[in-house]
Amino acid sequence: MKIAVLPGDGIGTEIVAEAIKVLGALDLPFEMETALVGGVAYAAHGHPLPESTLKLAQDADAILFGAVGDWQYDKLERSLRPEQAILGLRKHLGLFANFRPAICYKELVDASSLKPEIIAGLDILIIRELTGDIYFGQPRGRRIATDGHFPGAEEAFDTMRYSRPEIERIAHVAFQAAQKRSKRVTSVDKANVLETFQFWQDVMIDVGKQYPDVALDHMYIDNAAMQLVKAPKKFDVIVTGNMFGDILSDEASMLTGSIGMLPSASLNSKNQGLYEPSHGSAPDIAGQNIANPLATILSAAMMLRFSLNQETAAQRIETAVQAVLAQGLRTPDIYSTGTTKVSTVEMGDAVVKALG
Ligand code: NAD
Repeated sequence: MKIAVLPGDGIGTEIVAEAIKVLGALDLPFEMETALVGGVAYAAHGHPLPESTLKLAQDADAILFGAVGDWQYDKLERSLRPEQAILGLRKHLGLFANFRPAICYKELVDASSLKPEIIAGLDILIIRELTGDIYFGQPRGRRIATDGHFPGAEEAFDTMRYSRPEIERIAHVAFQAAQKRSKRVTSVDKANVLETFQFWQDVMIDVGKQYPDVALDHMYIDNAAMQLVKAPKKFDVIVTGNMFGDILSDEASMLTGSIGMLPSASLNSKNQGLYEPSHGSAPDIAGQNIANPLATILSAAMMLRFSLNQETAAQRIETAVQAVLAQGLRTPDIYSTGTTKVSTVEMGDAVVKALG
């Protein structure tokens, strides 16, 4: 079980260290190797995704990723910014399916900005297509200045595109995930305005015919964004494109109280995967030992389940996380009166202890 460990920038190193501590306590034969990615890689090697890091990732069964990005790199040309590392890894490894479960733990029901009755028991799965859409269309007609800005330009545009095979493969992932859950898929699009998403809807319907046991419905992105805060429990599996998925999954993450709680997995067709928390590098709290490591620890559990075939170990971690929440331990982002405030390291230690 070869794991490439890419902590990245900001809080990345702090939260990944806790996840490694938890993996280490499982007593399984992992081979872990660490490499630089993001801003720290740019600083050391002049590129956010150096060849050696890419090779390590390609040769691994799974990648445990922290986060990339720091404001000090915002002035760099776009292709050298830390965030390009994650786009590069997705592209080179063909990681097309992003899984973001949003689960509301009963202990954290009060951390949500929504009323407890709306949020209690929430367990939804957002599946975002990762390799197509407007993020990978051709930017044309641009006059990009070296710092990535457009002084004096009159227009800029990015093309939105999806191919049939790209939509089909994410549709299969969504229908198969739904078969293991409540057998419902909501496909989110903007077919009323965008040709790309009328096509998306047509292909979803075609693929859906192969899954007669799964109910498929369609919702426009604007309505989906609204329904997600109005009645989130009405959803089960949501499947959507790259840009809408980016936005909806962050919205869903806040339903549960803290972005520090939400894991994610990005998989290719061989089940090789990149596992990372849904949040970014949080430069505002980096180096203070206050970041919540649970999203990364839960991402490690997803890694065990999806890429390393270690379901029992995955469940051990998830049960341990629930146990520390039940003990009332909270990093500052999820702290409320009557609970115990702990640091990043203390939270990691508590999860290790709860593994039993
Ligand atoms: P962010 O997710 O880093 O932070 C948003 C807010 O949430 C901040 O207030 C932060 O302190 C808080 N937060 C995030 N993770 C937390 C945790 N584990 N525990 C406690 N609080 C947490 O988003 P941002 O501030 O918009 O972006 C910061 C940098 O991260 C940018 O450079 C951005 O491009 C990058 N980013 C990277 C990824 C990635 O690596 N996949 C994803 C999103 C943003």
